[in-house]
Amino acid sequence: MEEVEFKKLHDPYLHSNMITSTSTNQHLPPRRVWVPGPIIVGAGPSGLAAAACLKNQGVPAMILEQANCIASLWQFRTYDRLRLHLPKQFCQLPHMPFPVDFPTYPTKQHFLSYLESYAKNFDLNPVFNARVMSAEYDGECGFWRVKTKVSEYVSQWVIVATGENAKEVVPRFEGMNEFNGPIVHTSCYKSGECFQHKSVLVVGCGNSGMEVCLDLCNFNAFPSLVVRDSLHVLPQHMFGTSTFGLSIWLLKWLPIRIVDQFLLLVSRIMMGDTSRLGLNRPKLGPLELKSIYGKTPVLDVGTLAKIRTGVIKVYPKIKKLSCNNVEFVDGRVDKFDAIILATGYRSNVPTWLKDTNLFSENDGLPKKKFPEGWKGEHGLYAVGFTKRGLLGTCIEATQIAQDIASQWNSKGRCEFLQGQTCIHS
Ligand SMILES: Cc1cc2nc3c(=O)[nH]c(=O)nc-3n(C[C@H](O)[C@H](O)[C@H](O)COP(=O)(O)OP(=O)(O)OC[C@H]3O[C@@H](n4cnc5c(N)ncnc54)[C@H](O)[C@@H]3O)c2cc1C
Repeated sequence: MEEVEFKKLHDPYLHSNMITSTSTNQHLPPRRVWVPGPIIVGAGPSGLAAAACLKNQGVPAMILEQANCIASLWQFRTYDRLRLHLPKQFCQLPHMPFPVDFPTYPTKQHFLSYLESYAKNFDLNPVFNARVMSAEYDGECGFWRVKTKVSEYVSQWVIVATGENAKEVVPRFEGMNEFNGPIVHTSCYKSGECFQHKSVLVVGCGNSGMEVCLDLCNFNAFPSLVVRDSLHVLPQHMFGTSTFGLSIWLLKWLPIRIVDQFLLLVSRIMMGDTSRLGLNRPKLGPLELKSIYGKTPVLDVGTLAKIRTGVIKVYPKIKKLSCNNVEFVDGRVDKFDAIILATGYRSNVPTWLKDTNLFSENDGLPKKKFPEGWKGEHGLYAVGFTKRGLLGTCIEATQIAQDIASQWNSKGRCEFLQGQTCIHS
């Protein structure tokens, strides 16, 4: 639903003819829209999950989404061959499992169709093309004022669901402007088709960088990988089951360090010593590293074998670029036709949320780590920011809905009416 169209349906001012003009005229103040339930910013998996959990508790929510569709990250900024990295049972949203006929690792198209069905099933109708420019708590009235280009939405609760992947991280290299070939972020990469027979340098070795390398191989390109930091690469499966599922099961019985030692031992047996391939392991184990620093281990989907056979070359950090050349910190200089930046994303929350209690201004993530960090002050919540993927989203969406529902059922509606009078006057 478009932003203006939605307001026509929901704006009590409009229905009572109190407001007769729209704010598309820049000289007019933004139109004010009352939202009895929470405002959710972002219609990705986290925003949809929060709205569905609220609906289940009988609380209506309004979702504001900057794009013209749900799950814009998955629709527009992911590559064609993408599949969920984790088995489907760890990626389903609350109250609706994946269809049984979906594969264990659903494709991007499967996941998108699941999200469409999810929105339909819970009758979620986000307001599209509604980018939130600012959200600020008004202490005088006790309400949040959430502004888009054309409207001001007012509510007692704001749920931030704009994701950890809102903005591309694009590193700067000396000589970047001189480089002759294209330099693109993975958010713009669809497939290796246009890189056939080209020498491509992939910068960054998380799950995306590794998978893009493999994709380039499949399209007869010649990929190389820049590995700047140490990292854990684990097999996607161990003993016929997913490494992720096995780790979760083991953690129920054993301390994290013992599970890490077990994972590293099995990885060593299955993959050999990865440091011989230029992939040094960090001192902390994979699960401990994830739990303390949020750094996700790479689950190998076949890239390691290509590195081992020399099809994919590994380079250290880039020193500088020039024309078609890339110079590395170890002194090597090689020619490349294109550079793909698999350098990740970050949150955009500090650009629009006027609150420094829940979110850090540095990285745009909650200051408190999991399992805290989902609830701030004055009815502010965060879902999908704990570096725990869709599993984390599920937990937080459920917690938030329960918390808001308890307020809604006791005093929420009453306070809403009082606040409405306050802001009216
Ligand atoms: C390539 C890739 C593969 C992944 N694979 C997995 C996986 O297998 N399993 C897993 O658990 N996780 C995976 N993830 C992590 C992934 O981020 C989450 O699974 C999921 O997309 C997070 O959902 P989200 O709703 O929190 O954020 P997003 O999907 O990023 O959705 C946020 C939404 O907010 C909107 N938005 C942003 N700013 C504003 C604003 N100011 N106003 C209005 N709307 C706004 C955006 O347009 C977007 O639609 C993957 C991520 C990537 C990049």
